[in-house]
Amino acid sequence: GNNGAPDYLKGLNPEQRLAVETTEGPVLVLAGAGTGKTRVLTTRIAHILATGKAFPSQILAVTFTNKAAREMKQRIGILIGEGNVEGMPWLGTFHSIGVKLLRRHAELAGLRSDFTILDTDDVVRLIKQLIQAEGLDDKRWPAKQFAQMIDGWKNKGQGPADIAEGDARSFANGKGRELYKAYQERLRTLNACDFGDLLCHPIRIFRANPDVLKDYHRRFKYILVDEYQDTNTAQYMWLRLLAQRPDSGRNNSTSTDVRTAEGRKPDRAPEPLRGPRGGPAPAGAEQPVSENKVNICCVGDDDQSIYGWRGAEVDNILRFDKDFPGATIIRLERNYRSTAHILGAASHLIAHNEGRFGKTLFTDRNDPEDGKVNVHAAWDSEEEARAIGETIEAYQRQKHNLNDMAILVRASFQMRAFEDRFITLGLNYRVIGGPRFYERLEIRDALAFFRVVANGTDDLAFERIVNVPKRGLGEATIRQIHDTARALRIPMLEAAANLAESDELKPKPRAALREVAANFERWQKALETKPHTELAETILEESGYTDMWKNDRSAEAPGRLENLKELIRSMEEYESLRSFLEHVALVMDAEQNAGQDAVSIMTLHSAKGLEFETVFLPGWEEGLFPHQRALDEGGRSGLEEERRLAYVGLTRAKKNLHLWFVSNRLIHGLWQSTIPSRFLEELPESHVEIAESGNSYGGYGNSYGGGSFASGRGGRQNPYGASRFDNVGAESEKSGAFSNTYSTPGWQRAQANRTEATDRNWGTRS
Ligand code: ATP
Ligand code: MG
Repeated sequence: GNNGAPDYLKGLNPEQRLAVETTEGPVLVLAGAGTGKTRVLTTRIAHILATGKAFPSQILAVTFTNKAAREMKQRIGILIGEGNVEGMPWLGTFHSIGVKLLRRHAELAGLRSDFTILDTDDVVRLIKQLIQAEGLDDKRWPAKQFAQMIDGWKNKGQGPADIAEGDARSFANGKGRELYKAYQERLRTLNACDFGDLLCHPIRIFRANPDVLKDYHRRFKYILVDEYQDTNTAQYMWLRLLAQRPDSGRNNSTSTDVRTAEGRKPDRAPEPLRGPRGGPAPAGAEQPVSENKVNICCVGDDDQSIYGWRGAEVDNILRFDKDFPGATIIRLERNYRSTAHILGAASHLIAHNEGRFGKTLFTDRNDPEDGKVNVHAAWDSEEEARAIGETIEAYQRQKHNLNDMAILVRASFQMRAFEDRFITLGLNYRVIGGPRFYERLEIRDALAFFRVVANGTDDLAFERIVNVPKRGLGEATIRQIHDTARALRIPMLEAAANLAESDELKPKPRAALREVAANFERWQKALETKPHTELAETILEESGYTDMWKNDRSAEAPGRLENLKELIRSMEEYESLRSFLEHVALVMDAEQNAGQDAVSIMTLHSAKGLEFETVFLPGWEEGLFPHQRALDEGGRSGLEEERRLAYVGLTRAKKNLHLWFVSNRLIHGLWQSTIPSRFLEELPESHVEIAESGNSYGGYGNSYGGGSFASGRGGRQNPYGASRFDNVGAESEKSGAFSNTYSTPGWQRAQANRTEATDRNWGTRS
């Protein structure tokens, strides 16, 4: 019972406690968001350490991110005292643990222990060399594409010998397998490996060296895995090798499925455990740790599997009790995180997916003060950012911390509007899990072009893009430009133009420089005549920069193109290229606000496992969320993964949840009228409030008016019938608690800046 139980166990509910105290044998905790899965893992480690069942170095614990690993270590320290968590060398991500393993046994993979880990750029460069060495056309068979194929194989744990004929044939006229083999050999001679190898090498080492594996079986007395639903096949193989002991799993006992008993008092002692072999195993009883026992505990939620596109296999959860017979399967059904409204909305939404176990979630929270989930409409993304900024300030006035608030976006380009707005407001923010908008590679490149056009003496910018896209200007040529510039005390652009007219260079670089110089001369002239947004687009097109990403087959390329469009779109707010660049310089200068009170901005993918008091989810429109690409490429399963992503987003909120959709968004470079996301329609009315808006929406009440989605909207029709969100903008006269009372000039200015082409897509408005 609870009497005399250590502090760290108090406050756990019976099922959580069961999961913590069933330290022996396989355990799977399959439970919805916010039910305390991560808390169970943390407490379980604390329990194992506190009861002396294992030393810190005998616990293998896998988290999804390094940040999560740090936090887990910290919390264990809080539970049982800092001193006791020293030296948990095997708590980390699959990759960080993989590196450690590989360093210890590098020679078994044909490497030295000081091997280097290549990043994606290195990998692509290497593959390109191999493709060329094979005498293949690397335009027809792009290195990037093959790098992705290799990554896919490695996610499945497949080496060159394992890949299917068909798979290998699909690249370079059937030379795929040979290339893959050549790639691995090349890595070995370079004493290097890629990310996939960090898992694949250890797998192969374990298989080929039973002694080594046995050593780890003896070492790792306890294995724990968070976010189990997002493990890919290679990770799964790796885990199974480490967890499955030679003579385990040779019995016929069936799994024990422990469900939450309705009405059970939370303080009642847990039922006697049934161990993996069916025998009684009283909670807390000391058990000899057998060498062959599989003490593995995985926690996960099939509804939060959001990395299918990266090879994650949610089926791993289904197979758990086949791989680990006699597993105790524990369901947690009480959600401790969110209000009943938030939970109700999320549960209802995810119920639209077909491929799921299905589970109930409940909460004891019943505070009449808890508000419903708010759905808001805005005219466009600028207004969305403005309104969210004001809502945040309203929360601030009510003494809410910025640290407790987060904006979770579907696509990274959405961040730009928020960053800009928050800079203007002087509102602290931090971008988590990726560079800030203006720091992204493609944005910096584009800005470098613009900077040289606006200011021909900007050498740093010039140097960044003189050979972008690649025009065969090698280091030697660039050094020559440098030298000329220094000798004549002129900017590099001018030096380049001089060199292009001299005979100091070979014909090829000379022609390339001549083109660069002519381009900039032309663009600088256009600066006086062309509207700056148009000029910006022209620059990116004529320089070949847009095409460079269009021809790029990597997974990031479409996102980069989206970001570039968003960049051009954001320039509309400024009078000239120069004033825009000034603004950017200010934004870039803003600190990341580490350690300060700041709003978090991140993608939904990187928000997994986190929680915030108040969450804003902007951009709930068809085509953005669910994302068009996921629908195009993934069909039904693509849609279901998007819905799981929506579920992840909704369940990050503890108390306040605000969803937004806009009626106009720039898609593929054109203003389009958008349709509210089908996910909004899937939220239960009883838990949702369509937020009352301030007067500013009144001006275009018509654009949200009943049925208007179905007519005259560039052919986009709402396939979901009359939407109850159609009238959102029309309810504009009353004002709610956080009504947005900003005035109209913002959208009028945006309107004035629109081109004719965009007007046609604007829809009818009176
Ligand atoms: P996700 O699926 O989003 O990763 P999770 O199941 O891992 O969620 P946790 O993050 O562990 O859930 O817990 C959610 C919140 O509920 C945390 O703030 C946690 O501290 C709290 N919590 C969990 N269990 C309890 C409990 N028994 N009593 C009080 N609070 C709890
Ligand atoms: Mg968690």
